[in-house]
Amino acid sequence: MIQKGIAYSLCLMAISTSVIAKEPKNLDTYKNGLIAYHDSGNYLYDIDDVIKHALSYVQLRLEQNTHGNKKLAIVLDIDETALSTYDNMLKRGFGGTWDDIHRDMQEAKAPAIMPTLQLYRYAKAHGIAVIFITGRREADRALTESNLLAAGYKDWDGLILRSKEYDYSLASVYKPAMRKHLQELGYDIILNIGDQKSDLVGGYADKTFKLSNPYYFLN
Ligand SMILES: [Mg+2]
Repeated sequence: MIQKGIAYSLCLMAISTSVIAKEPKNLDTYKNGLIAYHDSGNYLYDIDDVIKHALSYVQLRLEQNTHGNKKLAIVLDIDETALSTYDNMLKRGFGGTWDDIHRDMQEAKAPAIMPTLQLYRYAKAHGIAVIFITGRREADRALTESNLLAAGYKDWDGLILRSKEYDYSLASVYKPAMRKHLQELGYDIILNIGDQKSDLVGGYADKTFKLSNPYYFLN
């Protein structure tokens, strides 16, 4: 009798799930929304708003001057944090295979996300180390350096790319391991900025700031 009851409940759940599933929005409507968000300036506005808060926190930490012998550091992600790949995403219709994405990356023409570059310059001018931690592969180091330089970033204190050891690790595993390593080297990571939650989870930073990115998800 009890088993019959369970079977009946499961049946009801299956029916209710199918009833709830209405026709979603058309895919092109979603894509048009993504384009409008970018072209209206709201995407950049949202990023700028977060970076302003990050800058205030940097200024607070500089005023407090409580880091002792530790070297203050900022950790930045690269794609959709320091550099924008929006033009290529648009060209691919917000899709594409890994090979397509990698081919675009190799062009090394992604422009800077300006609020992030301004924060970068402020940090460097005030003696704070800036270290990139990216999910890009070690094999792409030269083109990544070339793109960062072309976009206006220079004199960074570290550029950590994904080594073979972390080839199949989630960003949420690989990135905290890299921050832990930086702390062991004597850096006090005051803030960590990224466009994915997986850039930010796992600790080893005093404060985290999440930039807008409705265009893709990485874990
Ligand atoms: Mg990113």
